[in-house]
Amino acid sequence: MKVSRADFVISAVSEKQYPNDQLPEIALAGRSNVGKSSFINTLIQRKNLARTSAKPGKTQTLNYYRINEQFYFVDVPGYGYAKVSKQDRQKWANMMENYFEHREVLKAVLLIIDIRHDPTQNDIQMYDYLKYHQLPVIVVATKLDKIAKGKRTKHLQRAINLLELEKEDVMIPFSSQTGEGKNEAWQVVKSFL
Ligand code: GDP
Repeated sequence: MKVSRADFVISAVSEKQYPNDQLPEIALAGRSNVGKSSFINTLIQRKNLARTSAKPGKTQTLNYYRINEQFYFVDVPGYGYAKVSKQDRQKWANMMENYFEHREVLKAVLLIIDIRHDPTQNDIQMYDYLKYHQLPVIVVATKLDKIAKGKRTKHLQRAINLLELEKEDVMIPFSSQTGEGKNEAWQVVKSFL
């Protein structure tokens, strides 16, 4: 997709702040620091519209990016960050549940995993949760550049097996560093708009 416009719209802390223009939304889920912001920046070809940071887990907000006035990428706060309080974790869980279970304009979820490692328990839980709620899931296996070419198939297959990926779900090998997987990611995103 040719991105002629990409605007950061809002860091929403509550439902009241979600845009109400009815544009479709594609959410990004994944553990903190997995590469969600980098994924967005790569797709829209901006160096730093989505904030990438070395300090994971700070943002407990839904970050809305409007693309070509056509749809939103919604960066949801990362999970599995040990250093947040129980109270914050509960707040996070409530916000996520409300968003994933009730947001009508949500069309699909990009679940970003780090292909260097096996999917974590949190990744598996998130995948199962999204499937349970019948949301289309697109698994993006990022940081592909960090794996030697000869080992990639093995890592991808392990991720498919451990997540017990279903036939209708797609896994896209991806790298923000090299841009591998970018066209495929756009194709899949477009198919949900
Ligand atoms: P977020 O917390 O999920 O938004 O993660 P970020 O996009 O901020 O990325 C976390 C760190 O991983 C940053 O240092 C990025 O530069 C790095 N990173 C993200 N994607 C890739 C990738 O595809 N390859 C490599 N080598 N590093 C990446």
